Formats: sequence, C-alpha cells, structure tokens
Amino acid sequence: MERLSGALFAGPDAREEMAADLVRAMRLLEARGLVYGSIGNGSIRDGRRVWITPSRVPYADMGAEDVVEVGLDGADGARASEPARPPSRELPLHLAVYRARPDVRAILHTHSTHALAWSFLPDALPQTIEDLGYYEAGSVRTTPYAPPGSAALADGAAAALRDARAVLLGRHGVLAAAASLPDALGIAQAVERQAHVAWLLREERASPAARLTARHPTSTIRPCPGLRPTPS
Ligand SMILES: [Zn+2]
Repeated sequence: MERLSGALFAGPDAREEMAADLVRAMRLLEARGLVYGSIGNGSIRDGRRVWITPSRVPYADMGAEDVVEVGLDGADGARASEPARPPSRELPLHLAVYRARPDVRAILHTHSTHALAWSFLPDALPQTIEDLGYYEAGSVRTTPYAPPGSAALADGAAAALRDARAVLLGRHGVLAAAASLPDALGIAQAVERQAHVAWLLREERASPAARLTARHPTSTIRPCPGLRPTPS
C-alpha cells in the first residue's frame, strides 16, 4: 500500500520527497476509485513555488520526476522533470486557490462518481456524516459551471472556497484544499463518501415504499388478506 511520507519542505531533497508524495497521493486516490488513468490532478505548494501533476500522464506510469514545478505567478521555474512535461491544464485553478489562500499547501482534484453527480445539482452538499466534520470541512458549496481549464473556473472556485476546505466544481468534480497533503487526501475521500450517502438517502426518500409510508402512516396500512401472518 502506498504511504505518504509527510516530509516537510526543508530543501531540495525534501521537495523531491514531496513530489513523490504527490504521486503516491494520486495513486491512493486511484486505488480507492476516486480518479483513474490520468483524470484528476494534484499539487503542493511551498511559498511561491508550486509542484503540480503533469498533463495526460497515467498515474500508473507517473514518477516524481514527472511532477512539474512552476512559480505562483504561473511562470515556469526549474522543472522537476527532465525533459519538461506540460502541467495539468487545471494549473490556473490550483494557482488561483493558492494565491487566494496562503494557508493552503496541497490541492487535490477528482471526478469521483457520487460527488460529480451531486455537482449537477444546484444544492450545496450537506454535511450529514461525521467524516466531513472530522476534517472541519462542513457542507460543500457548488460553483456555477465553467469550462475545464478556464479562468472562469479558477476564479469561481477560489471565490467559492473562501474559508472552506472543499468545493464542488459545477458539473465537473471535487476540489479539496488543505494545509497538508494527507488532509487534502482525506477531504477528497470524505466529500465522495458524503455525496454517496446523500444520494443513498435521497433515493431512499424517493423510493415507492417511502412515498407509500409518507402518504399512509404505518398504523393505517392494512395487510392484504393473503399476506396475513399465519398464527404461530
Ligand atoms: Zn477536472
């Protein structure tokens, strides 16, 4: 099982270890079904430097050397990869959040199934289970739809995130932002679990049995004669 080292940013070696951690985090997300192939992306930040997953490299093939280093202003820096790879097309999204939130040092973006489905609804994802509370994430706002990779998506997400730790990108997916990579990983998973539970509860409320019970309180429902229990 992949494990995150939790290395601190303290020099070139630690930065290399953090890039390796970022790849491990994406592989953990893939192992848990929250991303697949090269769908989704992640980044870490140290001061004014950002390391982000490359564009269109499957996580199974990705190494720490493929992680792309850029400046917080988007300018290329000394790249961790040789030869250089293009960064994820959601680089503007990550940079907008980092610029707006100095406390954020790790961002993970997934298209996890239940959260993605919830992002098509106008409602915020309510917190009904403990998981989001554990990460102090609370209910999760949904941004209006904006095309992937666009400045509108980046600006909308940074605005919606405000003081939160997660946001649903409208008709797109999850953005988890935290002070550490393990926390961002936990938040991304908690949002998906909360969305899964929310859908289960919504389906239960919409089920024929639930509608029947709502229309006819249990005490008024008479069993069909043929279904009466046999005396014991
Ligand atoms: Zn995406």
